[in-house]
Amino acid sequence: MIDLRSDTVTRPSPAMLDAMMSAPLGDDVWGDDPTVNAFQEHLATLAGKQAALLFPSGTQSNLVGLMAHCERGDEYIVGQSAHTYRYEGGGAAVLGSIQPQPIENASDGSLPLEKISAAIKADDFHFARTRLLALENTIAGKVLPEDYVHQATEFARSRGLTTHLDGARLFNAAVASEVPLEQLCRPFDSVSLCFSKGMGTPIGSALVGTRSFIERARRWRKVVGGGMRQAGVIAAACQYALDHHVDDLALDHRRAARLAKGLAALPGIQVTSQATNMVFAHVPDEHLRPLSTWLKEHDILIELLYATRLVVHRDIDDADIDKVLDVMGAYFQQHAA
Ligand SMILES: *Cc1c(COP(=O)(O)O)cnc(C)c1O
Repeated sequence: MIDLRSDTVTRPSPAMLDAMMSAPLGDDVWGDDPTVNAFQEHLATLAGKQAALLFPSGTQSNLVGLMAHCERGDEYIVGQSAHTYRYEGGGAAVLGSIQPQPIENASDGSLPLEKISAAIKADDFHFARTRLLALENTIAGKVLPEDYVHQATEFARSRGLTTHLDGARLFNAAVASEVPLEQLCRPFDSVSLCFSKGMGTPIGSALVGTRSFIERARRWRKVVGGGMRQAGVIAAACQYALDHHVDDLALDHRRAARLAKGLAALPGIQVTSQATNMVFAHVPDEHLRPLSTWLKEHDILIELLYATRLVVHRDIDDADIDKVLDVMGAYFQQHAA
């Protein structure tokens, strides 16, 4: 199967599985899994923060990050299309008693400063306490403009807000913009990073921030059931990805660009954007179901019905891109658009 539904579908390589199998282990809730400890230290240094904490998922890492910033009755400012707001079951409100204040994302994924400013509530007991600004990078594959990030985080700080970055795909942003991870993390108090997307691990995310922030997060991670025991098997996979997979993300980006270019040349499909490893396209409604079926018959999986998004990842090679373009081309030849 050529699976373009998401970059979460990657399988661990034999070498990554070897690293997981041979990792020295302990009990991480007791703080004595050496592989987890080494990974967390390594990642904190790489991100330019004091400390890091391993999580089973990015959803939990974001949730715990928000809970470590905000208390009951606080609110966080976030984009309407942000993963933390839209795709995490409303966890901040459900489990954190944190009120989201969503505002519309601009087309580049940013949240306009004047909208952030207007959303910040006065210090008055009628209102929730506006506490935090949360951004996302990459967002819909796009790298947030670095100037914007500096302006937004400085503005937030000037208004007494802390800042969190959902950096599920921050490694893609770092590779695409050739900016070190540390520099992309620097403007934020905390950052959540995922290893189970383009980085190719079967599981694993991490939160980075100051030592005191990470200690608060460690408490909330336990509360939400994220304290794990011999978690070195996960940390070993994440460390392996850091050591061997980061540079490969450039291949995904190049292949996504080639896929977008090839699709744009087909008559029935309109490419609306391509950035880093993602391609978004518009397919006329009448073609959605038959095209989806056609692709499946040719062992290609694409999430056409929910959002025409094609995601390139390390289990997709050049031949796969050629095949997708051929099969798509054949469909539109038979069904003149
Ligand atoms: C995938 C993702 C997450 C976390 O997802 P999990 O599946 O819980 O690991 C968070 N934010 C963004 C932007 C994501 O794409």
